[in-house]
Amino acid sequence: MIVEMRTGAAKKEVNDVVQKAKSLGLDVQLNLGTDKTVVALLGSNTGQIPTDIFAVLPGVESVTRIMKPYKLASRAFKPKDTVVRCSGVEIGGPRIIVIAGPCAVETEKQLMEAAEAVKKAGAAILRGGAFKPRTSPFSFQGLQNKGLELLAKARNEYGMPVVTEVVNTEDVELVASYADMLQIGSRNMQNFSLLTNAGKSKRPVVMKRGFSCTITEWLTAADYLLAEGDDQVILCERGIRTFEDSIRFSMDISAVPVVKKNSHLPIIVDPSHSAGHYSLVPAIAKAAVAAGADGLLIEVHPNPKEALVDGLQSLSPSDFTRLMEELKVIAKAVGRYI
Ligand code: PEP
Ligand code: MN
Repeated sequence: MIVEMRTGAAKKEVNDVVQKAKSLGLDVQLNLGTDKTVVALLGSNTGQIPTDIFAVLPGVESVTRIMKPYKLASRAFKPKDTVVRCSGVEIGGPRIIVIAGPCAVETEKQLMEAAEAVKKAGAAILRGGAFKPRTSPFSFQGLQNKGLELLAKARNEYGMPVVTEVVNTEDVELVASYADMLQIGSRNMQNFSLLTNAGKSKRPVVMKRGFSCTITEWLTAADYLLAEGDDQVILCERGIRTFEDSIRFSMDISAVPVVKKNSHLPIIVDPSHSAGHYSLVPAIAKAAVAAGADGLLIEVHPNPKEALVDGLQSLSPSDFTRLMEELKVIAKAVGRYI
């Protein structure tokens, strides 16, 4: 249930709504907008509570039931777009943010070369996996702690924030102590204890869409992060599993406008994991920017042929530089910049 307060409602009036909700055993989250406060009332039994109990309180403008399963991620709770701040970089504003780097951190030389190349081409944030969620237990699992150290080194050397995936619930604190932003992988989108811990870390989180999950399930999973009291969440569409087998995962471009309509959270697109092949990455990236995505997450490797993970879908520095130039034109056409 969403209680919208009148413009200029007194603090005491907001507090009375909060107290009433608590007395009914409900959880409360406040959206202190610039001119209006919105109060989300959360609990499994809100359906049994008449809206009038809140509508009669002084200072209340309206009370609406949210019929969708997600509450805090919804536009009904927060009509204005959320801007996520990652160590000085804003995601969800007019600038399209490009996050780029290798799938996995492999060696110091590989990461530094990737960082230098993507920074030079205009990427705002460096990516690189230290802990890798691999489908097979026999595949390279990442450099783990050593990978985190190298990411921190690259951040200091190139002055770029870094994002890396956290795979295990118990590693959240460790990863958050090195990275500017946490990534939740597609395979972990519904790992609810991991989400809760990541939400507690107070780091911004980029949350990939589960490749077999609906947009509604994705936004509802985002509520697990938001329920911890921070709104610094970015959604990342990375392709979904369909009957189509000519591409690794079908890119659901329509997720961009659908998320924009239903949620206040920024959405970025990862063309690399959808494409599965470097030749398909530029077209998907351009389509995403044209569709209104707030950013891109692109795999770039200094020498894709030698990559330990996802080499086939990784762009070389020169291909990435060319793509960035092409993206600038698309961004301008939709009133944004890179
Ligand atoms: C990745 O970003 O390297 C990754 C493993 O992506 P996803 O979780 O989308 O498969
Ligand atoms: Mn990858």
